[in-house]
Amino acid sequence: MTRCTSARVDLDAVRRNFRALTAFLAGEAARNRDAGAGAATPPAIIGVVKANAYGHGAVPVARALVEAGASWLAVADIEEGIELREAGIPGRILVFGALSVSDVAGVFTHALTPTISSPAAARALGTAARARGVRLTCHLKIDTGLNRLGFRFDNLTRSLPEVLADPALEIEALSTHFATADDAEDPMFETQRTRFEAARETVRALGGTVRLAHAANSAASLRDSRTWADWIRPGLLLYGLVPAPMATTVALAPAMTLTSRVVAVKGVRTGERIGYGGRHEAAVPMTLAVVPAGYADGLDRRLEGRGAALVRGRRAPIVGSVSMDTLTVDVTGIEGVSTGDEVVFLGSQGGESWQTIDAREMAAWIGTIPYEVLCRLGARVERRYR
Ligand SMILES: *Cc1c(COP(=O)(O)O)cnc(C)c1O
Repeated sequence: MTRCTSARVDLDAVRRNFRALTAFLAGEAARNRDAGAGAATPPAIIGVVKANAYGHGAVPVARALVEAGASWLAVADIEEGIELREAGIPGRILVFGALSVSDVAGVFTHALTPTISSPAAARALGTAARARGVRLTCHLKIDTGLNRLGFRFDNLTRSLPEVLADPALEIEALSTHFATADDAEDPMFETQRTRFEAARETVRALGGTVRLAHAANSAASLRDSRTWADWIRPGLLLYGLVPAPMATTVALAPAMTLTSRVVAVKGVRTGERIGYGGRHEAAVPMTLAVVPAGYADGLDRRLEGRGAALVRGRRAPIVGSVSMDTLTVDVTGIEGVSTGDEVVFLGSQGGESWQTIDAREMAAWIGTIPYEVLCRLGARVERRYR
């Protein structure tokens, strides 16, 4: 049984993106060494596969990253980590999220590396480790201004000594997370970067033995090698997309293609209205292609009148409402559209006039970010892997 609306996930693209990024880091580090500025050694990569690998499928993507050489992966919570371990994914798995209200047993039973982001979480993990007679390796998160999770950067001399002194906890690395890495104009990025440097100093001054650190998401990794430290934590880049409005020369390819098929072709007369709400009125006779894909598949309702799909190598505007299971595209003037024709929402099509739509373009149409476009791909959309 296969629906005609399906996603193809190119695991080879994921592997190639990982390797392209690795090569980029090595090249930049070499250039920095020659120039005597910036990071002189390339960081390792923590492959971020949270949220079902941004909709691509956590287990297949994790496996592909491991094959490409990733020795670290990161997930949002313990449950996501357990899913990977139960599928036999090896290597280190970092859990980003807060653990204060979680059942932490999975950290021990499935060899996950938790992030400690509060004194209470440190106490809970320390207690759990002692009860099991083990020393638990953790990372410790500093809040340098995102104002989400983490120990406040300006309170470390008070909050950290107890955590650093707990013999049941081995703090392997410090981390932080940037709020504005994708915005070259915003000075907050530099503020956070220097606060994190200072936090690392503070930990040293407190006698902590933590030497390792990571901070950079995709945008920061591209933007400033001084944020690299020992690992970078890219997600989006591995899926072949660059955070807007940034650009890069790294050869990345989007891993996800979302396609469907035309199930009906319909003529509409001048003055007729199309779809729920009848918001689109035909000003001239139109030809519509009906496509069995809608918001239940993750296609946003705001694509109406803004987005397009590829049909016969041409851009066909989405007209009329995007409903739960169906939408219509305007194929007026596109020769020979018929039932069964491929419809591309994300990906490329075309012979003569090669056309591509990626998640970043779709996100721009509806006023969101490519992350959301990818993560919202519906659960009923079958992912096929190659
Ligand atoms: C999601 C996430 C990342 C990856 O972000 P990208 O912009 O996709 O590279 C890195 N670090 C943390 C803490 C995250 O939550």
